[in-house]
Amino acid sequence: MNKKDKIELIKSYFNEILPNATCELNYTKDYELLIAVVLSAQTTDKKVNELTATLFKKYKSIDDFDNADLKDIENDIKSIGLYKNKALALKDIAYKLRYKFNYKVPSSKEDLLTMKGVGNKVANVILIELFDKEEFPVDTHVFRCSKRLGLASKDDSINKVEEKLRKTFDKKDYKKLHHQFIHFGRYYCKAINPSCKNCRLKEICKDKIKNRFDQ
Ligand code: SF4
Repeated sequence: MNKKDKIELIKSYFNEILPNATCELNYTKDYELLIAVVLSAQTTDKKVNELTATLFKKYKSIDDFDNADLKDIENDIKSIGLYKNKALALKDIAYKLRYKFNYKVPSSKEDLLTMKGVGNKVANVILIELFDKEEFPVDTHVFRCSKRLGLASKDDSINKVEEKLRKTFDKKDYKKLHHQFIHFGRYYCKAINPSCKNCRLKEICKDKIKNRFDQ
């Protein structure tokens, strides 16, 4: 199958099974999304949503997070991994949003990256979700599925995968595809025991371990 047909197959299959894939983190304010995305590092969105359901009731504003004691925040988020680093990040984010960015989540990657806990992926997520910028964040699901589908090579780094995806797809489709890749990886093409039997992408899939297609 040529590259153009392969891209069309992926897009049409994703549109068929995941027509409404969107961000699954719960938030009502822009800064809450930033906090939720930082909390989601190496943690599921489900766990983050369980946590933020109470966290955002206790800390109702940027000032509440900035005024809070670091130990209290650590205690409030200790149900998720890396909570000490994440508590430090939350304090730094609240401080910078308050004093450097006038209580607004910045819309430039350069500014976003000045905050603790905000790396390239987190910044890209914020840029597509809040500002509709043409970014293609690569999380663990996008990373794995891109390789299985032959859109990136086995040894490619996260940055390389991002670069290849950006070259492969139209800019206007980045946001939708980013969400579709995540949902595909989360619910269909899982790391362990992916649902290969009915997958329409098996003809282009590079991951042929354990006779999955016989399942
Ligand atoms: S065939 Fe299986 S491993 Fe390959 S893309 Fe489909 S679900 Fe993923």
